[in-house]
Amino acid sequence: MATVKFVADYEVEPCIGCKLCDIVCPSGAIRMEARKPIIDDALCIGCGRCVDRCPEDIMWMKEREVPLAVTVLPEEVDQAAVAALLEKAGIEASVSICVCTLTPGSEIAGAIVKGAKNLEEVCAMTGMRSGCGIYCVAPALRLLEAAGCDMTPPGQHRWYPSTLSLYDLSDEVCAKYPDAFIAEDRALFDPDQKYGPLHKENV
Ligand code: SF4
Ligand code: SF4
Repeated sequence: MATVKFVADYEVEPCIGCKLCDIVCPSGAIRMEARKPIIDDALCIGCGRCVDRCPEDIMWMKEREVPLAVTVLPEEVDQAAVAALLEKAGIEASVSICVCTLTPGSEIAGAIVKGAKNLEEVCAMTGMRSGCGIYCVAPALRLLEAAGCDMTPPGQHRWYPSTLSLYDLSDEVCAKYPDAFIAEDRALFDPDQKYGPLHKENV
């Protein structure tokens, strides 16, 4: 869960329509129309990335009149389906997928069960990626992949369609880099060797 206190805004006239704000937005809150960004306040998770990236320095964050609570509550979704998805991906329900917002695996899986079909929709529904935007991406993608979602990244967006993790590395790679102790870590985290790559192109 995230409580979003700010929302992005910008000065229209000097905007050069470069689209960079749209490209970096993690929650799909910006779309371009006639070379100007349209910001959907309901989707903005207040990360400030667009403000940091705007080359014309014409974007800013303004305080919301009412903070936006962004979350997927357990009672909103079928918990059996959430548990099955977590099990398929090999992700613990209570582990913090997003270490900035402390959003747990159960909430990310809940968003997908509720209907999120891509990373942007998961972010908009949970507030995930409103902080560093780094560590949460791979496990969230793994859950999306486990749910059978289309893993094609949006054009120019800065994430890769890979959920590379201990589960995805081949035995050959583990053997090639013994100093990385990959096999040992795998034995620790996945002693029964239940999990593996969801798609072989990730290996
Ligand atoms: S979510 Fe972040 S990048 Fe997107 S509009 Fe809001 S502040 Fe800008
Ligand atoms: S990044 Fe700045 S200049 Fe570029 S489209 Fe967005 S608001 Fe306009």
